[in-house]
Amino acid sequence: MLYSEKVMDHFRNPRNVGEIENPDGVGEVGNAKCGDIMRITLKVEDGVIADAKFTTFGCGSAIATSSIATEMIMGKPVEEALELSNRAVVEALDGLPTHKIHCSVLAEEAVKAAVKDYYDKNNITYDPKIFCGLECGSCHHHGE
Ligand SMILES: [Zn+2]
Repeated sequence: MLYSEKVMDHFRNPRNVGEIENPDGVGEVGNAKCGDIMRITLKVEDGVIADAKFTTFGCGSAIATSSIATEMIMGKPVEEALELSNRAVVEALDGLPTHKIHCSVLAEEAVKAAVKDYYDKNNITYDPKIFCGLECGSCHHHGE
């Protein structure tokens, strides 16, 4: 079996699909490798992610990872959402085929981009290094 049951479940019945109206943070990222585009919108209340929705144009793995990523960050403080790693997402899905790992990286990056947008909109100061990999091309970790 190439994909775990959890991957298939989140692919067939993705959670939190859509777009939040007047979101507090928006993150949109893409990867050139299989053309996935992921957009995450966040609602933040008192520093906690009250709602998260996504739209993903991409492969099944990208859809499954964005679905589970929104579930994993919901109800968490923003700083904790930033700690969401693609490894944690892959583990939550009971694994992904190696050549699909880059799709889970997209979920991590979309969440980070949305949080960055929230920080920027609210003039919250942060260490730019925490978003390294998002904007700094030299350590872009999409595997070639
Ligand atoms: Zn993909």
